[in-house]
Amino acid sequence: MNPASLHTPTGQAHPGYPEIAPIRTGPEYIESLRGRNLRVFLLGERVDEPVDHPIIRPSINAVAETYDLAVREPELASTLSPMTGERVNRFLHIAGSAEDLVMQNKMQRKLGQNTGTCFQRCVGMDALNSLYSVTYEIDEKYETHYHENLKAFIAHVQHGNLVIGGAMTDPKGDRSKAPHEQSDPDLYLHVVERRPDGVVIRGAKAHQTGCINSHWLIVMPTARLGEHDKDYAIVGAVPVDAPGITYIYGRQSCDTRFLEEGTMDRGNAQYAGQEALVVFDDVFIPHERIFMNGEYDFAAMLVERFTCYHRRSYVCKSGVGDVLTGAAGAIADYNGAAQASHIKDKLVEMTHLNETIYATGIASSYQSKPTKSGCYLCDDMLANVCKHHVTKLPYEMGRLAQDLAGGLMVTLPSEGDLHAEETGGMLRKYLKGRDGVDIEDRWKMLRLIENMTMGRNAVGYLTESMHGAGSPQAQRIQILRAMELEYKKTLAKKLAGIETEDAPESRGYFSRVFGGTDEPGSSLP
Ligand SMILES: Cc1cc2nc3c(=O)[nH]c(=O)nc-3n(C[C@H](O)[C@H](O)[C@H](O)COP(=O)(O)OP(=O)(O)OC[C@H]3O[C@@H](n4cnc5c(N)ncnc54)[C@H](O)[C@@H]3O)c2cc1C
Repeated sequence: MNPASLHTPTGQAHPGYPEIAPIRTGPEYIESLRGRNLRVFLLGERVDEPVDHPIIRPSINAVAETYDLAVREPELASTLSPMTGERVNRFLHIAGSAEDLVMQNKMQRKLGQNTGTCFQRCVGMDALNSLYSVTYEIDEKYETHYHENLKAFIAHVQHGNLVIGGAMTDPKGDRSKAPHEQSDPDLYLHVVERRPDGVVIRGAKAHQTGCINSHWLIVMPTARLGEHDKDYAIVGAVPVDAPGITYIYGRQSCDTRFLEEGTMDRGNAQYAGQEALVVFDDVFIPHERIFMNGEYDFAAMLVERFTCYHRRSYVCKSGVGDVLTGAAGAIADYNGAAQASHIKDKLVEMTHLNETIYATGIASSYQSKPTKSGCYLCDDMLANVCKHHVTKLPYEMGRLAQDLAGGLMVTLPSEGDLHAEETGGMLRKYLKGRDGVDIEDRWKMLRLIENMTMGRNAVGYLTESMHGAGSPQAQRIQILRAMELEYKKTLAKKLAGIETEDAPESRGYFSRVFGGTDEPGSSLP
């Protein structure tokens, strides 16, 4: 296999894309979101300006940190793009080496540490990277032009430093039925009209992380498709403010604390994640922004490659886990229990669980290989093992943190009571911990643990860990496909002295799952 070169500068001026000034800092990013007249609904009301909404703003702050980190630590969070010749945010870079994928993981851990939540840009990064190789291979088979379309789009978003939402998950209706078998055809997003200049799509995407905080959404099919599902095989880029789009904001546990006075009961007042149901009510996509249109036989490849990247992107949770481990250690200290041996042992256990997530994710990146397009794709087995750990280990870490916190984490009165004349004194007297510890610090630490294990940021740390990039069974199916049991049985029979055919050589996970090669020389740098 001779991978194509990523060094194909496409310039910055592309038909169909406006000239834009690049966004550099977090504050510039926040300004870029203003005045877009999005159709957003939250708590039953239309939101005039999401940027200024107290429930939404912390999710915007989390994305803003992806910009500021790139300013503070350019080596970590930005890199030189061979496509534009410019330095670009790492979330928009196409991986040209294993090292690029490893650096994504290091950046993700750091951002998890800095925000304690989901910073929402991984899904777009993983969509661009998976589409890079898939469009190349569709064009190769059907002589289409999706790869050029995608490269023009990538050059535009890299130059502008824009945020991309990856919109894959359909509402799906009856899970036992294919898209075309649903009683309502709109339960999977599909093409309802083909025009000379593009297509019109209808349907919805559920659980969309950071969609309102994005500049563009890339819609993609969510499952393997058959011939009868041709109209569902649609991939394209849509501006978030395109006519016909409605956003219905997802509730998070304890979200209305952000409408109350004071910040102490918020746990993490600055940062939060964001999900919404996005409804596409006849939205137009011009041809130049389409990256798949009817090639249903490539839907499974796209889903597999996207989830391969995305499942190892869940190393972000190890950064969030660092915060939770620190919170557990701090509260033990505030409670006066830090020296107890079982406390230290539980902190060791949290660290061990957390590093297990990181280790499998970053190993998947180190084991990546080039696809025909030149873009590197990580190791599918290790990516699935990483994500499968993520469906379990943060829950156990949450249990340990709650163990160390004590029951006050869920029986603590409100900040209002702490400041009230009649009750404030009582609370300061009876909710005191170890001598020398400010009661407000103890309060804030308890609220942070609550926030991460059962409040707003438990959405990202726990339930997103369970279902994001596919529920646990989705990883087990991939592990089953790649586990080479027959090969392993032959190894065992041989050593046990049972007559057997010679063990075939392992084909390597990458070639089994992606049909690429494990040839020498195409491996790690
Ligand atoms: C916080 C959060 C953020 C997310 N962000 C994004 C995002 O940015 N972009 C995006 O595209 N998606 C996103 N997702 C969606 C995520 O990929 C889905 O939640 C996941 O694929 C599971 O789909 P579901 O939620 O519809 O659950 P379901 O598919 O209903 O799964 C529920 C259970 O049913 C089982 N099940 C489902 N179908 C079948 C079947 N046919 N046969 C047997 N068992 C079945 C599953 O294994 C699971 O145990 C996010 C999800 C969460 C929770």
